[in-house]
Parts: sequence; C-alpha cells; structure tokens
Amino acid sequence: PAGAGKSTIAKLLAEKLGILYLDTGAMYRAMGLKVLENGGNPKNPDDVIPLLRDTDILVQHENGKQKVYLDGRDVTSEIRTNQVSNAASDVGTIPEVRVKLVELQRQIADKTSLVMDGRDIGTYVMPNASLKIFLTASSEERARRRWVELREKGMDVDYNTVLQEIIQRDYNDSNRSFAPLRKADDAVLIDSTGKSIEQVIEEIEDLLKI
Ligand code: C5P
Repeated sequence: PAGAGKSTIAKLLAEKLGILYLDTGAMYRAMGLKVLENGGNPKNPDDVIPLLRDTDILVQHENGKQKVYLDGRDVTSEIRTNQVSNAASDVGTIPEVRVKLVELQRQIADKTSLVMDGRDIGTYVMPNASLKIFLTASSEERARRRWVELREKGMDVDYNTVLQEIIQRDYNDSNRSFAPLRKADDAVLIDSTGKSIEQVIEEIEDLLKI
C-alpha cells in the first residue's frame, strides 16, 4: 500500500544487486497527470480512455536517477504532488489503463533482471517472479512518512488530511475489481512499521539467499 516504503526499498535493493529498478507507480502517476492537464476527470473512463492511444510514458535511469517522461516531456517532479497521487489512484481503477501499463511493464521485464514495485506485481504482472515481497506498515506510520516527505518538499500539508488520503487510497486500491492490491499467496509479508530501511533490505537479502 501507499507509503509502505516500496520505492525506497526497491530502489536501494536494485542498486545493491546491480539490476534495474522499475517504479510502476510513476507510470500511473504520469497517466494521472496527463488526464489532469487535459482538463479531464481521472475517475471518468470517458475522459481517460481516449487519451491512452496517444500517450507515451517512459521510465528510465539517467546517472543513477529515475526520470519519467510523458509524451517526451520530463515530468519527474510534477508527478509527486498530492493531486497527482490521487489522480493516479483513480486512473488505476480503469482496466484499459492497467492493460496498457502492464504490457509496458512486462516488455521491460522480458529484457532484463529487475526489482519491480507496485500493488499488482506479485498477483498479476509477474506471477512467476522469483521472489515476491508484500511490504506494508500501519496506516499511521505510512501517513507520517508521506507527511514528512511532502513537508520536506516545502508543501504545507496537514497530517490528518494525509492520513485520510492514505486510507482512501488503500480503499480504492484494494476494492477495484481489476487487479486489486492484494498479497499474492506465495509472497512474503514484511511489516516495516518501526523498522529502518536497512533492516528491511537485510531481510529481503536474506530471503534472496534461501
Ligand atoms: O506507488 P505510488 O504511490 O507512486 O502509486 C500511485 C498510485 O498508482 C497508487 O495509489 C495506485 O492507485 C496506482 N498504482 C497501481 N498499480 C501499480 C502502481 C501504482 O494501481 N502497480
């Protein structure tokens, strides 16, 4: 779920293993941004689906940093606002969006070893992954992490608002009918509440050795 530490952990782990890190959330964010920029409602399939054909989303690494391009434009920082988070969660409920982005994710995974993070990776995108981790933390801890992150970026946000948004996003992500957020039966559950990033990475590295 949101704020569990997926991207931070996946990125550092990929670096340690010397393989690619693919942040699938960034793709949903880019799609959410596209809809907002077109004046559409990210909840409304009629506003979203027609845009899919002419949308080009690229996630790549340049000098060790992840860059996200939407139709050739660098949107790396623009996609990190709260408004775009919510738009990403809304467009992610539309099956046509998921089909397009999942196809892209599988194409990348076909070509290279990687650490992929996202809510439906273990259950839907990569059912045969060699190691699946379901990373979570309490909603309060996840809200606190997001709140600190947004404040550090200079955004003046209220903790309770962030908590409510986390709860709403969990609900959206877990209750959508198509590829919902769910632990795969063969995924290992790691609860990162009260754990440091290093501790979680060590746990995963130990699992890789088994
Ligand atoms: O992980 P991140 O917070 O960047 O994801 C933004 C939103 O994109 C999530 O709330 C979720 O609704 C959607 N998403 C998804 N499936 C993924 C990755 C992200 O539905 N694999």
